[in-house]
Amino acid sequence: MNVQDIRKDFPILVHKNTTYPLIYCDNAATMQKPTRVLNALMHFYTTTNANIYRGIYDLAENATQAYEEARQKVAHFIGADAQEVVFTRGTTEGINFIVSAWAEQHIGAGDEIVLTELEHHANFIPWQRFAYKKGAVIKYIPVTHEGTLNLSYLDTIITSKTRLVSMVHVSNAVGTHVNVYPIISAAKAVGARVLIDAAQSIAHQPVNVKDLGCDFFVFSGHKMMGPTGIGVLYIAKEMHASVEPYQVGGGMVETVTMMHSIWEQPPHKFEAGTPAIAQAIGLGAAIDYYTTNINFDVLQMHEAALCEQLIAGLSSYSSIRLLGPLSELKKMGHMVSFLVDGIHSHDVAAFLNARGIAVRAGHHCAQPFALILGYDASVRVSFAAYNTHAEVECIIAAINELLHIYKVS
Ligand code: PMP
Repeated sequence: MNVQDIRKDFPILVHKNTTYPLIYCDNAATMQKPTRVLNALMHFYTTTNANIYRGIYDLAENATQAYEEARQKVAHFIGADAQEVVFTRGTTEGINFIVSAWAEQHIGAGDEIVLTELEHHANFIPWQRFAYKKGAVIKYIPVTHEGTLNLSYLDTIITSKTRLVSMVHVSNAVGTHVNVYPIISAAKAVGARVLIDAAQSIAHQPVNVKDLGCDFFVFSGHKMMGPTGIGVLYIAKEMHASVEPYQVGGGMVETVTMMHSIWEQPPHKFEAGTPAIAQAIGLGAAIDYYTTNINFDVLQMHEAALCEQLIAGLSSYSSIRLLGPLSELKKMGHMVSFLVDGIHSHDVAAFLNARGIAVRAGHHCAQPFALILGYDASVRVSFAAYNTHAEVECIIAAINELLHIYKVS
């Protein structure tokens, strides 16, 4: 994996050279797209565009085949069977899907749902609304001030009343890798189901849903170099009968009479209406890009080395508070979040923007976690395969300049 070669595959990095070259470090929000993905979209629309599973003409057959090939690629990438892969709009839709199509029938008043205090809003709010409506109870696995999970009281949190544990794989606020295995074991021991939010892990480490032993697994294509508007919900085969269609309409039915409808077999039962065909094919191309160009061991080392460099560069300033499990991030992280005493994070991000550096400032849609740690907004620098040590040097230099301007050290 040669970073300079990888950079050439991303047109936005090559062409967006204005006063300052673009230093794109908001990869946790969305990743840039390689030419291979852009070409796949163009190729589909210029050679193959037709609706799928409807026409019997060549174009429609080819479009259907390309869409199903994309499903196969996803299945292979996450260690699932193709029929367990459902295309959605993204992580958020995947979680809302399970709330409406499974939890609605299987979780009732007094039942318990376990989340962690690290969750993205996408894995908080759907459950909050659901629990309020149903009279179900939400329990949280607590975080430490380092942003890791405290599992000491797991046996009092996951109990015979637990119906579901829904948790993040890697935190989007501070980059913690959640050790999901003991939590999954505890859930399985009481017969609870498990959902993993892999929005931040999918692009940075190999995943295998069967090794994890989860029931549901969700991620977004755009966070792994794919297009927006496409995501994946893995539903384990054993769960197929107990998950209802999320939406109903065309494409997901075998027969319809005036009185009654019979659903298609999964995954079609779970995909009503015309899906995001080109985007699914684009996601397939992103997976091809990963398979051809990215070695996950090398990627993880590269991103962790960038984290280590940034942590080392910022830790000499007494006004900077670095967040998260720093020793872990230096070994396997892909993001670094921090606060600057006396300068609001939005001002830090705006200053970096003036130097061509794109980072995110805010609560990163993990406001409960930010409240626990006592900040309203942090600066988050998040890396991908195409980021370089020279870019991290520029970030450290820009922060140094900012601190001088504000006269803080
Ligand atoms: N969960 C996590 C951990 C995330 O980082 C994100 C995106 N920031 C989401 C869920 C939601 O993803 P999307 O907006 O693509 O649905």
